[in-house]
Amino acid sequence: MKKLQKPTGTRDILPEEQKYWQFLDKIVEKRAIAFGFEKIDTPFFEYKSVFTRGIGETTDIVEKEMYEVKRSNQDTSEKLNVNSEEIKEASVLRPENTAGIVRSYLENGMITRPQPVKLYYIGPMFRYDRPQKGRLRQFTQAGIEILGDDSPMTDAVSILLLWQIFSDLGLKDEVIMEINSIGCRNCRNKYKKKLVEYYKPYQSMLCPDCARRYLANPLRLLDCKEENCKKIAAGAPQIIDNLCDDCKAHFMKVLEYLDGLDLTYDLNPRLVRGLDYYSRTTLEIRDKNDTSRQSSLGGGGRYDNLVEQMGGKPTPAIGWAIGYERIIEKIKERDIQIAEPAGAELFIIQIGEKARKKALPLVAELNQKGYNTSCVLGKESLKSQLRAAGKMRAKFALIIGQREALDETIIVRNMDEAAQETIAMNKLEKFLEKKFGRK
Ligand code: AMP
Repeated sequence: MKKLQKPTGTRDILPEEQKYWQFLDKIVEKRAIAFGFEKIDTPFFEYKSVFTRGIGETTDIVEKEMYEVKRSNQDTSEKLNVNSEEIKEASVLRPENTAGIVRSYLENGMITRPQPVKLYYIGPMFRYDRPQKGRLRQFTQAGIEILGDDSPMTDAVSILLLWQIFSDLGLKDEVIMEINSIGCRNCRNKYKKKLVEYYKPYQSMLCPDCARRYLANPLRLLDCKEENCKKIAAGAPQIIDNLCDDCKAHFMKVLEYLDGLDLTYDLNPRLVRGLDYYSRTTLEIRDKNDTSRQSSLGGGGRYDNLVEQMGGKPTPAIGWAIGYERIIEKIKERDIQIAEPAGAELFIIQIGEKARKKALPLVAELNQKGYNTSCVLGKESLKSQLRAAGKMRAKFALIIGQREALDETIIVRNMDEAAQETIAMNKLEKFLEKKFGRK
């Protein structure tokens, strides 16, 4: 029989790896909550138009990378039923979360809440691409969105939050944070024309992707990673010199706020980002020592037109997302030490049938009292149960042997000191209260 395997480009996160995920979750949540963000979860799949309208038809994500969700037993007669939901509109696995959150913001009337609405999320995204190191088909992102505020201060706050997260991760000296402004629709459209003009004589020298972008999405010509295209892009007019007065003033203010903060950033006039919805400030954080396409650890920017584009009132917004798997790779590569998750406080060990009967109620009772208590309830030897207690890094092993089961006593073994004493069962509670300083 064929061996069952996980789908290409996906990963199992095994128990021993969970500490990295928990470490990131904790830092993201702590920092986001401190800045007044609230958590949001949206479905892992959405109707396709959320992304075609939101992200743009000519982006790589929408053109090539979305997974359509279909019911496996949808038969042809049902397919002919034009009222069937799946026929009316296909659903796709979410390739990113901003469009889904804007959909939710609109659908749930969040516009009536005090603005800005500040949201954060953590969850899986799905993109179909050729898998390679740092590029998965299912990957995890954490991100923030601030909807309903266009002040440059908001840009600075979101950038600061991103920086603080990398600082907490122990990676701030390993990354570069890049900032740019791609202006509003007006100045960007004028700039695009200039860009197309500049690229005209180079058209035949562009890579196949850029040849396509030249017509469909000329801004993307600037961030191609092909050597030849990079050389051509180096001489291109810069958007920063082509911003309208409002966009320029906005960007200058953002930089002014950033300069007053304890963080480092580089200006990258070629940072345009892949999705159509961006406007004004764009940002990316990447590995300093990596020049590959997979060096990006996080990115985002303003998307002042997206809410309107998706059917709402004009509502300025900004957000970013970071990729867990790539960050965790860096943490491992740099050998950053992560605290092991807290171990058990107590571990109950039993020997003999009578003791076994007492053990499970005791585990239940101690957990109920708030002690993190564990056990193995097989017929294992004292030695192997002690080993299990050690593996769980229990502070105390509570041992019930044949004699203790009859005497109504229990042996308390301090696992660090390997010292033990026998106490009466009815004194256990007081004993633990004293040891753990709890009441
Ligand atoms: P994006 O939504 O493309 O701006 O990506 C934001 C972050 O998500 C990137 O900087 C990566 O860290 C991560 N990311 C994006 N695509 C993938 C992928 N296919 N596999 C793993 N991580 C990804």
